[in-house]
This record gives sequence, C-alpha cells and structure tokens, in this order.
Amino acid sequence: MDILFASSEAHPLIKTGGLADVSGSLPRAILGQRHDIRVIIPAYREILRHAQHLTLAAYLELEGVSQPVRILGGRLPGGNVKLYLVDSPSHFDRAGNPYTTSDGKPWPDNAERFTVFCRAIHALAVDAAGLDWQPDIVHCNDWQTGLVPIMLRETPSAPASIFTIHNLAYQGLFDWKTFKSLKLPASWWSADALEFHDSFSFIKGGLVFADWLTTVSPTYADEICTPEFGYGLEGLLNHRRGHLTGIINGVDYTVWNPGRDLHIPVQYNRRSLFHKTENKRDLQERFALPVDNDTPLFAVISRLVEQKGIDLILEIVPELVKQNAQLVVLGSGDSQLETALELASTRHPDHIGIHIGYNETLAHGIEAGADIFLMPSRFEPCGLNQIYSLRYGTVPVVRRTGGLADTIVDTTPETLEDKTATGFCFDKAEASALWSSVERALEHYRKPEYWAQIVDTGMRQDFSWKRSAQQYVELYTRVIDEQQNHPSFKKYVTQ
Ligand code: ADP
Repeated sequence: MDILFASSEAHPLIKTGGLADVSGSLPRAILGQRHDIRVIIPAYREILRHAQHLTLAAYLELEGVSQPVRILGGRLPGGNVKLYLVDSPSHFDRAGNPYTTSDGKPWPDNAERFTVFCRAIHALAVDAAGLDWQPDIVHCNDWQTGLVPIMLRETPSAPASIFTIHNLAYQGLFDWKTFKSLKLPASWWSADALEFHDSFSFIKGGLVFADWLTTVSPTYADEICTPEFGYGLEGLLNHRRGHLTGIINGVDYTVWNPGRDLHIPVQYNRRSLFHKTENKRDLQERFALPVDNDTPLFAVISRLVEQKGIDLILEIVPELVKQNAQLVVLGSGDSQLETALELASTRHPDHIGIHIGYNETLAHGIEAGADIFLMPSRFEPCGLNQIYSLRYGTVPVVRRTGGLADTIVDTTPETLEDKTATGFCFDKAEASALWSSVERALEHYRKPEYWAQIVDTGMRQDFSWKRSAQQYVELYTRVIDEQQNHPSFKKYVTQ
C-alpha cells in the first residue's frame, strides 16, 4: 500500500506532545511491514534549522497563498521513512511553538496556516504535485489536518482517508469571518459539514468526512461517544460509531528503554534493577532533594493543564510531605499551575522539586530515577508516560480513564496472586481518591517482595508498535477495499 501520513508534528523534528511520538514511530513500524508510507509535516523554522539532506521535490501554487509553496523531500531521522515538508515561509518559518506565540497564545493566523497545510496535503494526495506518486490512503491526525477528508470528498478518484483523534479537546475552532476569509466553498458552512454551533470547526472536516475514524485507545473510543467526554460532538461520533476504532498507541522502545538509554546516568534492565538506585540518587541531587534511597520518590512529567489533574497533585502535597515522600515535576503550561508548583517547592524544598520547561533528557532521567509515576488525568486519550514508566520500573498511579485504563492493571489481592498487577488506579477525579491510591502504592512500596513483583510485571509489558501498526495496516486494507468495491461508500454523509 501507498500511504500518506499527515501530522502537524513528528519526533525528533518537532514535538509538543504525544502526537509527535506517534508520528515519529508509527510510520517506521508500518514501513517495516513493507508499505510505502510517507510523512508530511509543515516546515517549521526549527525543522529547517536542523534537518539535513533536504531536496526540492515540488513547487505548489495553492489557492489563497501568494507565493508558491515548496515541498521539500527528505527522510525522517532514525529510519528510512520518506518525509515531505510543506515550506511556506510566511506561515511556518517563525520562532517558537508550532501552535502558539512565546506567551502561549494561539498564533492569530492558525486557521490560515493549517488551511495551507491541508491544501498541500490534498495536492500530494491527488497527485497534483508532480511527484509521480499517489497514495491509496491518507492518514490524517488531529484538527490541523481536518480539512483534508472534506477536500478529498470533493475530488474524483481521490484516495481513501482515515482520521485519528489524538485529543478531542483540541478542535481547531474559528469564527465565521475567518471561514469566509479562507475562500473555502460556501457550502461547507453547514451543520452537516464544518459549522459547529456558529463556529468553523476544522476537526469536523475529519469526523464527518473521513472514511474511517480512529482514536488512540479503545476506552477513549467509548468515552468520546458520551456527553462527559464528547464536547457536544458525541451525537456525530455515535452516528459514526460503526466506523470508529480505538487502537492503543505503541511506544518506541529504541528511544524508551532503560537498558540502552544514553540520556540516563546508569543503564539497567529487569536483571540489573539495583542500578535504578544510582539513577534515583542522581535525580535527587539534580532537584536538590535529600539523597536517600528509602524515601519514596514520586514523579510527574506533563503538560501543565487542567486535563492532567495537576491541581489534584497540588492538593495532596501536604499529605506527601507528612508521609516524608518526595515529588519531582517536569512540565510547562498554565502559568497558574506553574506558579502553584513553584510555591509548593519553595515551601517544601526537601520534598518537592520543580523544573518548569521542556527537557527531553531530564524526562528520561526522571523515568529512570523515580519510584512512582503520577497521572491523575481527568481524561487521557492514550497517554504515553505511564507506558514509558512501566518499562523503567517506575510504578504508575493513574486515574482509570482512556488509555490509562487500557494499559495499567490495578493492584488487588487477585492481581497480585495472578501476577498481573502493574500499578494503582482510582476512579473519581478527586484528591481524596488520588490520595487513597497513593496510600496503597506506599503500603506496597514498603513491602519489598510485593513491590519487586509489581515492578517486574510492569517491565515485562510489551507495548511496542508491532501489534498496533498491524491493526492500522488491517484497517487501511479494509477501508481501501471498501472504497474500491463500493464507490458510494465515500458519499454516505451529505451530498
Ligand atoms: P500529551 O500528548 O497529552 O501531552 P502524552 O502522555 O500522550 O500526553 O505524551 C506526552 C509526551 O510529551 C511524552 O513523550 C512526554 O515525555 C513528553 N513531555 C511532556 N511534557 C514534557 C516536558 N516538560 N519535557 C519533556 N518531555 C515532556
């Protein structure tokens, strides 16, 4: 199969969250199954600065863009996956984050920027870029690629499309004036298409018009069909439930493996776990915490936003201090949460260590050095850090939602007995519920034989891409087949 994989970020070129991890590793796994998969992302300044061996693959004249857009060709680092960069300097060659200004506000021209990106993806998808290559299927990811499925539906003999929801909270909503300024077909402003409660919704372009929808865990696929998690899109998603599949994200164990991790002071594996102690010492030193192997060390690596339940962690700080535990946090996001965490660290310097910012090396060091990882997310489409934690022998405490529910097995007498326990789960998004599972974790931490078993079971879990990539390949095959055998299949939504 020929597959065009469209995403607004891909590790290691550019990353703000889990989407980059997936876009950097899933295509490599699919290429490994001998399909021609090519990744397309915007040519942000940071990528142009670091990327090597780029060639000029095509010039595109796109509607609404005064300068021709260049398509640069290269390879995704760390593998052989072909890469296309959409180089439109006025849209992407600027300092900072792909989506926000340096003070965290969305770029005012985001709708225009990602419309240009979608038009470029569409041009490649329909072989209008002069590359002499046409995919059988376009795999779109998140709202930044949402206009591609609706554009494809309007094009005869277009490839099939899949749209993956990595986080339904981010929908790409803009106003009517913005919609009008982009010169998109007027008929798209309709409740059956891109209009959503008087707004222009990028994500609806994917949710309504893609041939198939996926999301990144089976539990999240169920959750987004309910009012609690659906943001008003649950009716549409229920309507499409027969074409919505949850596929759990894999992780890249060449990047996240304590046995080979060059970011951490001392490598270790299941049989040399004693080396984890040295990583713990290093971590305590880095955060200026008292160095003591017996003190339980909790960790958080996260975007600091309401979704992640950081406020619940702040609420249990006094209890953690009372129990003489330590907590290290790496993250950035809401300034209020950043300030509250910094204040907690100033108040309890022997117990709480905070690093505000984005730091890949430190993230690996924390996974290696901590004992327990906290993820009390209000919702979590898949979540990757709990899976990395398993492999690093850092026991996760998680809220039972989305991918957290699908990847962590709660510790109970039964799961200890049958040796399936890998972490601690709780249900209510409340500090008291988080605290009772933290208390359970602490009780088990103090019983070394139980703890060793939970750690060992976690380290044995295999969430590599192989199985999930296979599921995507099967889905691509099915969708292409349905489209070819039932051409009307594509047209079932509106005409
Ligand atoms: P989300 O995509 O919602 O942010 P995920 O758990 O799916 O959450 O993925 C987050 C990814 O971003 C992980 O690879 C995590 O290690 C990384 N990450 C998040 N915050 C930071 C940070 N401050 N420094 C380094 N890595 C981070």
